[in-house]
Amino acid sequence: MVEKKIPKATARRLPLYYRYLRFLHEAGKNRVSSAKLSEAVKVDSATIRRDFSYFGALGKRGYGYDVEALMNFFSKTLNQDRLTNVALIGVGNLGQALLNYNFRRSNNTRISAGFDINDKLIGTIHQGVPVYHIDDMVEQLDLQQIDVAILTVPSEIAQEMANKLVEGGVKGIMNFTPIRVNVPESVRVHNVDLTNELQTLIYFINYYQELDDAE
Ligand code: ATP
Repeated sequence: MVEKKIPKATARRLPLYYRYLRFLHEAGKNRVSSAKLSEAVKVDSATIRRDFSYFGALGKRGYGYDVEALMNFFSKTLNQDRLTNVALIGVGNLGQALLNYNFRRSNNTRISAGFDINDKLIGTIHQGVPVYHIDDMVEQLDLQQIDVAILTVPSEIAQEMANKLVEGGVKGIMNFTPIRVNVPESVRVHNVDLTNELQTLIYFINYYQELDDAE
């Protein structure tokens, strides 16, 4: 299949396609029509066809798409056949919840090292993951070839930790703190503010409730 620079929106839909194709494969299905795929992933079929065309995957009329071939291709594209080690910075309540959550069940991503400042945690193993002192972070990131980090430290030290992560050579940070950290352009930050998400949801519920009541 041809390698082309794919649009961001297409790239974002890849995991969605991949998960469904894997589901179909596990259910013993060999092919899927674009209409069926569209219904399952809630993306219109024209968009699916355009997305897939970037990968040179053109469904055959009256046949649809070959499930296994597409699944294997997406798996490679998404790096699923390579284990990605992730560091967890801050093994507090949220950090431990993420350790308990098994990222590996859906793909080959796993937290392979935790870092904290709390003596009670340092040197212990949580869900098979060793917790190191934060001062050893830069060295461990290098030793374990870790490119991605999850940030679950108190907000006050989020920027300081982000600086350390940049120093350690990470390429991506999943930031669970409410602080917007500054990093060089080469580093990607995804912000996940759970409190904000919940508040927004509640706001929308109330807002639409008020609109309904006003009618
Ligand atoms: P949360 O639910 O946000 O994880 P928490 O109450 O468990 O909250 P926080 O005070 O938010 O704990 O801290 C999260 C984790 O970050 C804790 O385990 C704490 O020990 C750790 N931490 C605090 N300061 C540092 C630091 N300078 N370097 C590394 N880890 C730190």
